[in-house]
Amino acid sequence: MNILFTGGAGYVGSACLRYVMASGHQVVAYDNLVEGHPEAVNGAPLVVGDIRNTELLEQILREHNIDAVMHFAAATNVGESVSNPGYHYDNNIGGTLSLLNAMVAAGVKKLLFSSTCATYGLNPSSPMAEDAEQDPCSPYARTKLAVEWMIRDFAQTYNIGFTLLRYFNAAGASEDGEFGEYHHPETHLIPLVLDNILQADTQLKVFGSDYDTRDGTCIRDYVHIEDLASAHLLAMEAIGANSREVFNIGTGHGQSVMDIIDACEMVSGHRVNYKIVARRPGDAPELVANPHKLRTELGWKPKYTHINEIVRTAWTWHKLKPQGYGER
Ligand code: UDP
Repeated sequence: MNILFTGGAGYVGSACLRYVMASGHQVVAYDNLVEGHPEAVNGAPLVVGDIRNTELLEQILREHNIDAVMHFAAATNVGESVSNPGYHYDNNIGGTLSLLNAMVAAGVKKLLFSSTCATYGLNPSSPMAEDAEQDPCSPYARTKLAVEWMIRDFAQTYNIGFTLLRYFNAAGASEDGEFGEYHHPETHLIPLVLDNILQADTQLKVFGSDYDTRDGTCIRDYVHIEDLASAHLLAMEAIGANSREVFNIGTGHGQSVMDIIDACEMVSGHRVNYKIVARRPGDAPELVANPHKLRTELGWKPKYTHINEIVRTAWTWHKLKPQGYGER
């Protein structure tokens, strides 16, 4: 298949692109390089463009004879979505509308959407199955839920087969340490803990220790990016004209912020310097997947089943490239 990856130079998009490319499909990355890095696409064709540029998207879909789109391009910073909701609504909702219009114009009939467990938000059930009620608690999560509905509506009218992949927390790096997570500024927990270990003069902030969880800090389900990527490939190959699918991608195991600090200390052999501060707006207390449907219907089997293994790959990448792509 010929597959277009919007946001294909980003952390998750590029991991999926490299994995799908290695399995023999033809891939093209489309990215505005605001969050993405050209090095991350590992030599695959890269078109630099904005997701809201419908004309350019349509041209690329036609030029490359695209059969399916994997849609990752989005603003993803939860804190920023609270301080600047317009940016998130514009990129995520406006961007997806632009993509869907381009797909309709070019006759592309298959779509995989990178959605999020954050759409479940304050739903207290844990682990969470796909039919759990969605109750998003940040502007970011609400844009993702709105996009899920937009895709359903377009699919109905224009016969697009789609799969919504709601992922939990993407984490880790490639085994060789060549590809990993790098945002500027960084807001994600594992890279920030590892940065703290590498930079003696910093202090990690733990956002809240008064949640109703086993140690008072937030619980998340961290899934290795290669396992996330293998789920994308399975979902892609299963997609048909009438697909209206939703899958959670997570391990089914939750780690608290303190568990992550422990894992990073264990893997690196260094202490983490942290302090407890106020809760971060928009954070849900606990988000853990029930991956039963993904395992049984698509045969997904994660390779990384222990948090220390995931953190080990992130640590290798951080040591090799503390400044991310382009620097050693
Ligand atoms: N977190 C934290 N300190 C940080 C960054 C994150 O305590 O400097 C917490 C955050 O409140 C959340 C968890 O770590 O409970 C995971 O946050 P991250 O931003 O990595 O992913 P999210 O779940 O928000 O997508």
